[in-house]
Amino acid sequence: MRKIIMNCLECDAVINVPDDASVGEIVSCPECGADFEIAKKSGNQVELKIAESVGEDWGE
Ligand SMILES: [Zn+2]
Repeated sequence: MRKIIMNCLECDAVINVPDDASVGEIVSCPECGADFEIAKKSGNQVELKIAESVGEDWGE
């Protein structure tokens, strides 16, 4: 399985995103523990957004 290397939006640590991850999946920074949601994915390009940790509703 290949991995896509991303940088944490909070602390710039390296985050490995499995390349079979799908949009909406949550990845966590191993350094600061921030959760990011995969906002967009095409090929090996991934866009992360900060996941809201307040568990309200996930509908947009
Ligand atoms: Zn981080």
